[in-house]
Order: sequence, then C-alpha cells, then structure tokens
Amino acid sequence: MSMREQFERACEVIPGGVSSPVRAFGSVGGTPVFIASAAGPRVFDTDGRAYLDLVGSWGPALLGHAHPDVVAAVQAAAARGLSFGAPTLAEVELAELIRTRVPAAEKVRFVSTGTEATMTAIRLARGATQRPLIVKFAGCYHGHSDGLLAAAGSGLATAGQPGSAGVTAAAAAQTLVLPYNDTTALAAAFDRHGDRIAAVITEPAAANMGVVPPAPGFNAALRQITAKHGALLIFDEVLTGFRVGPAGWWGLENTAAELDPDLFTFGKVVGGGMPLAALGGPAAVMDLLAPLGPVYQAGTLSGNPLATAAGIATLTLADDAVYASVDAAAARLSTSVGAALEAAGVPHRVQHAGSLFSVFWGEAPAAEPVRNYAQAQAQDPRRYQAFFHAMLEGGVALPPSAFEAWFLSAAHDDEALTGIEAVLPQAAEAAARVRPEPRPVPVTPPKAAKGMVSLVGGGPGDPGLLTLAGADCLAEADVVLYDHLAPYESLQLARPGAELVDVGKLPRGEFTPQEDINRLLIEHARAGKRVVRFKGGDVFVFGRGGEEWEACNAAGIPVQIIPGVTSATSAPGLAGIPVTHRGLSQGFTVVSAHVGPESPRSTLNWEALATNATTLVVLMGVKTLPEVCAGLVSRGMDASTPAAIIHKAASPDMGVVRGTVSTLAQLAAEAGITAPAITVIGAVAGLDLA
Ligand code: SAH
Repeated sequence: MSMREQFERACEVIPGGVSSPVRAFGSVGGTPVFIASAAGPRVFDTDGRAYLDLVGSWGPALLGHAHPDVVAAVQAAAARGLSFGAPTLAEVELAELIRTRVPAAEKVRFVSTGTEATMTAIRLARGATQRPLIVKFAGCYHGHSDGLLAAAGSGLATAGQPGSAGVTAAAAAQTLVLPYNDTTALAAAFDRHGDRIAAVITEPAAANMGVVPPAPGFNAALRQITAKHGALLIFDEVLTGFRVGPAGWWGLENTAAELDPDLFTFGKVVGGGMPLAALGGPAAVMDLLAPLGPVYQAGTLSGNPLATAAGIATLTLADDAVYASVDAAAARLSTSVGAALEAAGVPHRVQHAGSLFSVFWGEAPAAEPVRNYAQAQAQDPRRYQAFFHAMLEGGVALPPSAFEAWFLSAAHDDEALTGIEAVLPQAAEAAARVRPEPRPVPVTPPKAAKGMVSLVGGGPGDPGLLTLAGADCLAEADVVLYDHLAPYESLQLARPGAELVDVGKLPRGEFTPQEDINRLLIEHARAGKRVVRFKGGDVFVFGRGGEEWEACNAAGIPVQIIPGVTSATSAPGLAGIPVTHRGLSQGFTVVSAHVGPESPRSTLNWEALATNATTLVVLMGVKTLPEVCAGLVSRGMDASTPAAIIHKAASPDMGVVRGTVSTLAQLAAEAGITAPAITVIGAVAGLDLA
C-alpha cells in the first residue's frame, strides 16, 4: 500500500487519519509518512525507508529511539503484569529520581499525559488559592484542556483557529492571555485582577511557538509578581524537563530557592516514550491533592508499571555524558542549518533554548529576534514547507510544522549528523526558491490620522469582537482613551509607547464626566496626536458616541466612527442566546430601560413592546427589571414568555440567569445580578446554543 492509500484508509476510520493533529502534515502539505519502527537516530516507514529523525516523538526520545536498555526494562515490567491499579515501588523510585534532580519538586504525582499534568496543576492552584483566574502566555502550549487552549502554540499555531470549538466562553474567560516576555502586560494584569489570579502557567523556555527563550529576568519577574499577589507559579516543563539538562530548564536557570516555582509539570522524557507525566512541587502544595487534601485527581493507568519502568531506565541512563552529547549535536546542527540557509540566501533566524532550537523563516524574524507569539507568527511558513519536503525527500524527518522545536538525541552521532548535513544545501535551495510572501492588503481604509479622533467600538469584553478597522486604528493610535466596558485585552494591540488613559475612572476613583472626556479628546487631537476613543459595544448604541462626535465637530477636529459589535447582540450571543431564530422570532427591538414603563420620563410605547411578538433586548435595565417585567405582563405579554439576563458578558464574572418574564426579576435579584447586564425577553431566551 502506498503512503497515500494508507492515509486514505486511516481517514476512513480516524478523523483526519491521525491521533494528534500536527501529524496530518496540514501545515506542510503532502501525505504523512506512516512509521513502522524506529531505532537510535532513525525512524523507518512502512515501506522500510529510513529517515534520520529530528522529531524524536516530539521530545521523549532523548536517548534515541528504542534504546535497548529501556526496551528491556519495559519488557521485563510487561512480563510482571501490565497494570495493577495499586501502588508500586517503581513509582516511588521514579519520584525519588525526579526529586534528586529537581529538589524543588519535593513531592510528585504521576499521571499519563502532559495534558493531565497541567490540568491537575491548574486545579491544584485554584484549590490552593480559592481563586478562579489563570494567566497563560500566547504561544505557550500546555496541553488541550479547556482553559489552556486559548492562544496556544503547537498544533494550534498552524490550525488557523484561535482556540478550539467546544470550549465555552465561560471556560475561556477564566484564562487571561498575555504576550510572552512582556513584564509590563503582566504587571497591568496583576494590577487589575491580582486578587483573583490563582496561577501563572508558563513554559520557562517556550518551545511550542518555535523556540523562544525567556528574556533575561522574565522568569524571575514571574516569580516575584506571583509571590507578591499570592498566586502560584507553574513551570510547565513537559517539553524542557530532563531534556535541556539533568534538571530541565529549572536546572539551567535556577539561581536561588526563592525563585523556585510552586509547581512543575513534566512529561515526555520522564516517561521515556511511554505515556507518563507528572506534576511536582513543595509538599505544602502537593499535599492538597486527594487523598490528603481536597483537590481531586485520579487515574486507572496513572503510574503505570511499564511507563514507570521506561522512565526509570531513561533517567538512569541520562547522565552528564548524554546531555553533553545532545548539547554538542544541537550546537553543531543548528550552526550547519544556519550556514546552509545563509549560503542559499534564505532570510531566517535560528533560536535556541538549551539544546532545543528551531528556525524562524522570512524577513520579519531575520530582522529581529522573536520574543513572543505575534512575532513568531510573522514568519513565512511557505519557506519551511519547501525546506521540510526537500529534507524528507533526502531522508530526514523534521517536525511537520515551523512552530515546533527540532529534537536531537544522544543517538545522533557524527554519522547521523553528517547524513543530515548532506541534505541541508538542497533543502536550503528549495526554501530559497520560494518567493517572498505578498504583503496582505489592508481590508479597511480608515486609519488613525494625526490630529484626528477615531471613535472605535469593540464587542464588550471580548477582543475577538473588535473589527479589523478598529484593530488597525488602535494599532496606530498615539493616545487611547478607554473605559471599563471596552474589551480590555485589545489594548494590547496598541503600539508600545502609546498612552493609555482610563477615562472610566479618574485616579482618585471618580467617574470621568463626559465633558472631561470631550475635552481630553480635543486637547490630544490639537496636539497633533492620533486619538482613539475606545468603547465597549457600538459607538452609537446608547453610548456617548453622538455627543463626542458633536463635540469634536464643534471644535473643528476631524472625527470618524468605527462601529463595533454591540453588546445588544453579542452579550446574548456569548450566552448562547440568538436574538432572532427562524421560526421563533422575526425581529428584535433594543431598548434602554434606564427609566421603566411606569415612569413619566419613559418615551417608549410599552403596550406595543409587550404585544409586538418580536424579541425585546433591554440595556441599562437592572434596577428597573422588576418594573419592566411586571409592566410588560400587565400590558398584555404572556407571563410564560421566556426571559434571560446576561451579566458582565465576556468577562470572567459572566453570569446568565434564565426564567420567564414573570419570574426573572425575582431570580435575578436572588442571583445578585448587577449592572452591566442585558435582558432578553422572547421565545429565543429559552434557547441555549452555547
Ligand atoms: N454602546 C454599548 C452599550 C452602552 S450602554 C453597546 O452597544 O454595547 C451600557 C449598557 O450596555 C449596559 O448598561 C448593559 O446593559 C450593556 N452592556 C455593555 N456591556 C455589557 C456586558 N459586558 N455585559 C452585559 N451588558 C453589557
């Protein structure tokens, strides 16, 4: 069977033909190679063709594939029984080996995959702190549990999707995503949410967006700020642990006990190629796990005897000589790759973190080092596609994505490295033949201009609901005036050095009067700045957009409106409630209930609203909710009409209360709903499409 036929057969019974997405070659194109066996530095496909391997099973194969002593240890363990579901001495021995290398991991719990390890670490951090939020860095990959998929690297870096379907807005909202290596953004997040952050999880050297080492002092800054705010620091060393050195990245960087993280996660090398992972940390934290503590975690196959045997054999064999040889192989190969690309004139940058390295392709990374995910994504992956296939053709298997590290092993001896180097020139030539990526044409002409005010709306709370035009404008602004309903995370789009002014509150905590906002807009524009007034929702929906527009006009300041997604549709949408739905509602009406139906100041025809059979979306109506609901029923609305109220949509505190128009006010009061909130009344409020 050809590779193509095998892949087609696989696709019949396995989604995409693979058990893990990157293996499908989606980002490099072509048909994945089916592997039949592996030994030392090589893998062999089902046709018996050998490849010098730089994937190393994505990390575990530190000693090379199928090291005879590791295989023998697993065979011996298998003969004694495959799984007991009871404690074993092998687990104890492996935990002791880990602790000897990483004394900061005083106690260790074994699980089966890195995903489980990080998931458990997060739960443990939340249990220890009684706080909800997790901070992660864009481009760091911590496995595929719900809260950790936001802006993750690895397979998601090339999947063309920002996260994953099936992750609820509520779960995603518990994760704050910050740019890697940016202590300013970190400090801002802690200033704002510090008392609700359970943990910061990081790859102490990032290697799932390509290899991006921590800036000097970044990990120490993480430690200091988490300690100051009582949050835990989690070092995810699934990839780096026991690979970049005997004690992982911690061992390379560790300078003082007070800089130790509170938790580590390990995987890959620690299981020697078997499904095994671990989390570890000080006893005071680890003992919060069941059965000693209240944080539950369990697994039939956890600490499996075959996996622990492979882990023990691997760690025992991985002595200083092994690490020295992997380091030397990485130094040699990365130099050869750089030289070959240089000779062929391919713009690129090679980055290292210990023995891990990867190549970033194209002009942007060639111009400056890659420090974060945005910069990593500015590379031109088409160069890598050409390079990858030329290497494969020449008998070298590279990771099928430009966003992965290249993995070496102690089995990559001089012969193997020479074999790889022999193929580099032709692959570099293939990459050189790729024409530079055409620059994307901006979709929207309006941009911030000097001396001009742009009123930019963005969906409340959710950076994904900002329009492209709004994002462009924000990126060019000199001054951004924002308030608490603006999608706060999107402020990251502002260029470094832009002045960010919170006009929701003045420094002493008072509300900024509208006149002051108008005055600030005009003053900054007069000073020749590009001014953006950044609002949550749509500029014109019950906001002060009209007033600001008039004020600028009156002062002779050019002003433009960049509409945003209004909370009137997005907040219900985030809660899984469509404001119309074929067959249920053929229209919707958005009203403000800052005054209710019984107030003489109301200008609305509440009789018509009660009986017009479309969806009613009520903004600014928390205080008046009882009056609104009762008023609608007394004016003819069916008392059993479904109704729902959505509170703080897209924020970590988002909440939804559902009932009917006759019960909602009471239920909302019981649930403690406060402004801002949005009420949806009508048949659609009975749906939940989230
Ligand atoms: N121009 C904005 C609305 C401004 S009026 C827009 O189009 O979205 C302010 C009202 O909007 C609030 O009282 C509340 O009813 C609603 N609102 C804004 N952001 C919200 C959020 N994140 N969650 C729930 N309601 C919100």
